Amino acid sequence: MIHEQTIRSAVGCTGIGLHSGASVSMRILPAPPGTGIVFHRIDLDGFAIEAVSRNVARVSYATSLMKKGVLISTTEHLLSAFIGLGIDNAIVELDNLELPILDGSAQPFVEMIRKAGIRKQRRPRKYLKIRREVEMREGNKFIAVYPADSYSVSYSINFPHPLIGKSTFQVQLSNGSYLRHIAAARTFGSRQDEPAMRNMGLIRGASSENCIVLTRDGIENGPLRFSDEFVRHKVLDLVGDLALLGNQILGKVVADRAGHAMHTALVSRILRDKTLWEEVTVSNEETPRDAVSSVQAAAGSAL
Ligand SMILES: [Zn+2]
Repeated sequence: MIHEQTIRSAVGCTGIGLHSGASVSMRILPAPPGTGIVFHRIDLDGFAIEAVSRNVARVSYATSLMKKGVLISTTEHLLSAFIGLGIDNAIVELDNLELPILDGSAQPFVEMIRKAGIRKQRRPRKYLKIRREVEMREGNKFIAVYPADSYSVSYSINFPHPLIGKSTFQVQLSNGSYLRHIAAARTFGSRQDEPAMRNMGLIRGASSENCIVLTRDGIENGPLRFSDEFVRHKVLDLVGDLALLGNQILGKVVADRAGHAMHTALVSRILRDKTLWEEVTVSNEETPRDAVSSVQAAAGSAL
């Protein structure tokens, strides 16, 4: 049987929030079986906010949680790392409203958790196994989940930039493939959009240290970590947003030009309808093989 896991010892870091630009100290602590992931605002008497769908608040360029007016912002990269490493239970202490962006990927969180060590717990992990398909469309955006015995993602983007264009990435999120193919993919933004985003009070902490900066026809701060780093980051975000289901999922997720709003809409749609899924445990022999594939086309040739 696959069991729940937590970390072995407390581990911490400091950084700044991508959107708020605020300095923040973060600590990750071990937690008992059945806890899930719970954030604590230690600057607000340790106010606790569980990382679950019912606490999702504002969702635009990042995913934020809110409970009784208290906010925790940009949760997706850390939650993604927890899913990628199979961490079910942890307390995350923050002394400000936004998680640190660090290098813009999940890699620094992965390294912190590995440094802390991973501890197997007594309780068998309950998976949310999809039984019936769910498809959601919004204009040309699409997201769906289909029944499957393992967790896989197929993500497509179509971004009018010579380095991106149409790009699809498919990955089986098991046996280390998250760590090899997804964790290090950084967030990205364009120089041209920067003034408008800043006017909306966003990306106050953005710099060439924590995101890929796109220019009209290239990037300012190369090299890329993967030639298709952009679509891989979308997978990273999706995995982090789907963590708000509160359990690891068994299903095939397909997304096309989706974003945080559609990711979290899928989560609440799934949780609302209990005929769509069942809770199961999984024996150790059932872990699927590593599989990854990527399709890329330059924007020019795709038009
Ligand atoms: Zn992201």
